[in-house]
Amino acid sequence: MPATCSSQTSGKQLREYLDAAHIQGLRAARTGVVSRQVPALAEVSATRFAMAVATVDGAEAHIGESDAGFSIQSLSKLFALCALLRHEPEAWPAVGWGPSDAGYGSVADLEHNDWRPRNPFVNSGALVVTDRLLMHSGDAVSATVEMLGGGAGEVFSDPRVAQSEIDTDHRNSAIAHVLAEHGRLVNPIDVLLPQYFAQCAITASVRTLARAALFLADRDSEPSGGQAVLDPATVRRVNAVLLMSGMYGAAGDIAYRIGLPAKSGIGGGVLAVMPGRGAVCVWSPPLDGDGNSAGGVAAIEEFARCAGWSVF
Ligand code: GLU
Repeated sequence: MPATCSSQTSGKQLREYLDAAHIQGLRAARTGVVSRQVPALAEVSATRFAMAVATVDGAEAHIGESDAGFSIQSLSKLFALCALLRHEPEAWPAVGWGPSDAGYGSVADLEHNDWRPRNPFVNSGALVVTDRLLMHSGDAVSATVEMLGGGAGEVFSDPRVAQSEIDTDHRNSAIAHVLAEHGRLVNPIDVLLPQYFAQCAITASVRTLARAALFLADRDSEPSGGQAVLDPATVRRVNAVLLMSGMYGAAGDIAYRIGLPAKSGIGGGVLAVMPGRGAVCVWSPPLDGDGNSAGGVAAIEEFARCAGWSVF
């Protein structure tokens, strides 16, 4: 544990917080299990770890394999949603914004909600997001890669991971059929599903993700040299939905322990946003019982404690 924790955000200070977070993250990672849901992800070593923070005032720090690409899986749902909202700011009724206590792959939850997704982070909502993004952009994967900064080929969709999910998936296919049955999709299922799996199979590093999420923290000012990525009211809504629904069934636990809007993925990534301050991202593959990265949650908890990051 560092000697002092304060609200300063110099690179040196951030690095001290990351050192403390790293220790907690590695300890917690030992309690988790690497996901087997997508066979290609099961091959990733449980001991890999990376963490990066970027602040709205331009400070950055990182630790571990911070430039290594990993499978962002459901972190892509956040960036696909933001890409969609740029094309269609009023897409919310189609994707929902309320919490759900059903699993992210629940079909029954659709049935209990008039066949509408509860929010854009459960798979039904994410499929609707990808479907609409595909309609607007012609390529939901490229639109999502672009939201991640795209450049220099370091963000790309890994065809091996996508194929691994295509070969083994039944659940997303079932959800897509139910959505189609109730008129919630625009594109044919056999067009939508490969796009969705390729979107989930995007590879990026924690540094890229922390930087790419800064627009969700930068609520007052416009990014240098250009238009805001999303208008401030939309950013507030995205953060609200993240807080309620970004961490599977653990929203209450995460709000209690950390107090930040956050999104996780079964590849072991966790990305958290502190409005007005910055974004922090961890990659640690073993997952806890809620499906969140055990090391990622513990590392962000320690970092947030040290940096004084909480929306409460
Ligand atoms: N590709 C996975 C799925 O759609 C992502 C799951 C996740 O990261 O939450 O089921």
